Amino acid sequence: MNDEEVKVLCENVYIHMKEAYRKNLDKWCLTKVSSIFQRILDRDLSDKPFLDIMLLSYDELEKLVADPTVINLDYKFSIKSNRRIKGNRLISIKDYLINNVYNAISKDSRRKKILSITHLSVCPYCNRNFMNSSTNKNTCELDHFWNKSQFPIFVASFYNLIPSCPSCNRNKGTETFLLSPYNVKISSNQRLRFSWYPLDGNFLFNRDSIYISSKTHKDFKNDFDLLDLQNLYQIHSDLILDIILKKIFIPEYYLNEINNIIPLSDSDTNRLFTGVYTDEKDYHKRPLSKLISDIYVELNHLER
Ligand SMILES: [Zn+2]
Repeated sequence: MNDEEVKVLCENVYIHMKEAYRKNLDKWCLTKVSSIFQRILDRDLSDKPFLDIMLLSYDELEKLVADPTVINLDYKFSIKSNRRIKGNRLISIKDYLINNVYNAISKDSRRKKILSITHLSVCPYCNRNFMNSSTNKNTCELDHFWNKSQFPIFVASFYNLIPSCPSCNRNKGTETFLLSPYNVKISSNQRLRFSWYPLDGNFLFNRDSIYISSKTHKDFKNDFDLLDLQNLYQIHSDLILDIILKKIFIPEYYLNEINNIIPLSDSDTNRLFTGVYTDEKDYHKRPLSKLISDIYVELNHLER
């Protein structure tokens, strides 16, 4: 991730906020958030407090979300005056964040920019669907990892915005996930490992005889189930059948033969043979890279 690009994007959203509203939002941040910043992150807010909040690192966000004072922040102040609201007639800080600020950061051009900064081509939640956009159409949505109704303050924080496919964004809804794609403490291969087994003796001829099984990290099980990934991946049993047939009918030395003809790196040779990116750092470049790599590894066609 290029920090400078993240900064330019966030600054662009920040400076285009209506000036009077931005000043009130900043004042609210100084009143309500400064002491929390100081206590938890051991640093002060700058003279652009809301921009500081947009630019929080993933680790800082994680620390703040875990503190009960953050979920209990009082947003019932008018964005027009920064005075406490009694009725519902005025736009509160919360409404302003959830509606206006969210709309500003999620508009098409900025969603495309976020996607380009992250270098993601495939949804990081499912690794099944492309999210690239054409000039006219946008196929990427933005999920708030920590949902915006509970944490309005992080509605435009870069590392709370997960580019995702419409299917995952809808399936997640307002549910709470435990493992963000930005959490690097648990790698993709630790989160999830696919395997397969035959349900009967017809598995070489019938894809329905192949069951795709999975082993999930204890912290990823919740997210995996909410996204219904077990059932969604079972749809791809035909791919497993293709891999098994390749294992049987294409000899082991085939990979070496490819290398003798075209000198390629190991990664390129593996991609040519499997049809997907097999290095963990590249799974996001092509759909189903994780599933297919795991099965090739299991069948000893790939080393890990
Ligand atoms: Zn997805």
